[in-house]
Amino acid sequence: MADEEIQRESMEYDVLIVGAGPAGLSAAIRLKQRAAEAGAEISVAVLEKGSEVGAHILSGAVIDPCSLNELLPDWKERGAPIVTEVTDDRFYVLGPMGSAQLPNFLLPPLMNNHGNYIVSLGEVTRWLGQQAEALGVEIYPGFAAAAVVYDDAGAVKGVQVGDLGIAKSGAHKGDFTPGIEIHAKYTLIGEGVRGSLAKQLIRKFKLDAGKQPQKFGIGLKELWEVPAEKHKPGLVLHTTGWPLDDNTGGGSFMYHFGDRLVAIGFVVHLNYRNPWLSPFDEFQRMKTHPEVAQWLEGGKRLSYGARAITEGGLQSIPKLTFAGGALLGCSAGFMNVPRIKGSHNAMKSGMLAADAAFEAVTAGRQRDELKAYEDGVRASAIYKDLKPVRNAKPILSQYGTFVGGFLGMIDMWTNTIFGNFSFFSGTGALKHGKTDAASTLPAAKCKKIVYPKPDGVLTFDKLSSVFISNTNHEEDQPAHLKVLNPTLQRDSELQIFAGPSQRYCPAGVYEWLDDPAQPGGMRFQINAQNCVHCKTCDIKDPSQNIVWTTPEGGGGPNYPNM
Ligand SMILES: Cc1cc2nc3c(=O)[nH]c(=O)nc-3n(C[C@H](O)[C@H](O)[C@H](O)COP(=O)(O)OP(=O)(O)OC[C@H]3O[C@@H](n4cnc5c(N)ncnc54)[C@H](O)[C@@H]3O)c2cc1C
Ligand code: SF4
Repeated sequence: MADEEIQRESMEYDVLIVGAGPAGLSAAIRLKQRAAEAGAEISVAVLEKGSEVGAHILSGAVIDPCSLNELLPDWKERGAPIVTEVTDDRFYVLGPMGSAQLPNFLLPPLMNNHGNYIVSLGEVTRWLGQQAEALGVEIYPGFAAAAVVYDDAGAVKGVQVGDLGIAKSGAHKGDFTPGIEIHAKYTLIGEGVRGSLAKQLIRKFKLDAGKQPQKFGIGLKELWEVPAEKHKPGLVLHTTGWPLDDNTGGGSFMYHFGDRLVAIGFVVHLNYRNPWLSPFDEFQRMKTHPEVAQWLEGGKRLSYGARAITEGGLQSIPKLTFAGGALLGCSAGFMNVPRIKGSHNAMKSGMLAADAAFEAVTAGRQRDELKAYEDGVRASAIYKDLKPVRNAKPILSQYGTFVGGFLGMIDMWTNTIFGNFSFFSGTGALKHGKTDAASTLPAAKCKKIVYPKPDGVLTFDKLSSVFISNTNHEEDQPAHLKVLNPTLQRDSELQIFAGPSQRYCPAGVYEWLDDPAQPGGMRFQINAQNCVHCKTCDIKDPSQNIVWTTPEGGGGPNYPNM
């Protein structure tokens, strides 16, 4: 049946929110709070592609509670899973032979973690979901927003939920259920990093015109349970340097919290040049450094996952509004990279969008631009948070980890002391240059990297890692990873860049396999069922030839507490 022949039912809400992350749920809660204060009614629905709220959330996480204090000031009394306060904050520079701890007084005060909490953001999000439902928000987990629906005037009218029951071949199976359309006066997009709808909306409404390209990293994370004598609740440990070379940005985090839990992770900036690099294997290698390994000894790995992270900062934030809706949280890119924190800004952006949408709906407006949201963000704590760190990433990209890290630190200090003045850019911001996809060099110009074999104790392979991410997709469905031009994939991805998807994908989804029947003797295999929805392929494919789309709702990782 052709798509236009499919009869779709529709539902109507005042406000539709795509994505039950910190941004989307804060927007939902704020809308209902505003309605209760005003004695008004407002209908709010949230769509979430994960099988449950929190199933697709992966973060560090040390959170700054500033936005939560504003949204739900009595969060402690409400039993929020936010318990472990940061008590010990350490930053190390690693080398192959040893390490050096940076004294905390050298770090700009904005990087200080005291007063922050170590949490599982997945658990916090689940709790936020409960708070939202108690206020009357309708949350639909297992429902992916697959496409944007426009009205006749070109404004966003809502979204179409993904169809269920389509076979790999494209044929409709017996249980085929067409996805309904959900229409709303305003549609708020809180899909997180590299949202698939956000990407389309940014392109259609040219929201990134005149902005710097968005930059990204890939964050890989494991959750460990360690022996009691190794557990220091409240300890926050960050590293930079080894095993990455000076031209490759990134670093690690280790957070001790809860009942003998340690969250350990590694971020690699996706503007890395060498296509032979494997972020997953760099992460595994990092754990073998004595400064890191000592904390995991005798412990057990419980969970694994990966997710991209936005790194462009202030100069890459697109225009936030379009007719009928707005971008929230990491879909807009409010991540503060030197602080490695985005959840507080995601929440604040959700609250500001909710305020603007509530005013508009109660004034009888619909499907216009929520200009008050754009203005609100500019005047808010989000801009104050991002302004002093705006040059840290471009300086790092230009000068490398050691010189760039030092200069970036000085820049953040001068911004802190001289009211956001920078010796590099005055009151303006440095440019990022190329996109992450365009940063990759041809394989022939780069040194091949040979990674050590995993030991199964401290270091692991990809497949056993994906296994503990509880990733599950209906097997008989069209691959949700679309290769736009298979010939280009072979001529560019394979022939020029030596198949970097086999290395940057943290879940082993992509393989180039010998196949004499294919031109060039190789076949591009996509093991889509392993995809952990990190979005790295959509960002880093050198020819931008891979497009991540939503699989059947509920598919993907099932993170218990990442
Ligand atoms: C490795 C790593 C470490 C981090 N560490 C920290 C930290 O220590 N502190 C901190 O504050 N921040 C940290 N961050 C950043 C933080 O996680 C984000 O800023 C925050 O999660 C952004 O919230 P969000 O609501 O915008 O998006 P997300 O948290 O990504 O939530 C988006 C939600 O939308 C859903 N969704 C997406 N597309 C669709 C669709 N089409 N249909 C339906 N549902 C959809 C997703 O499944 C997800 O549940 C870290 C990030 C990473 C990757
Ligand atoms: S296929 Fe893409 S989105 Fe899925 S895990 Fe691999 S890199 Fe991430």
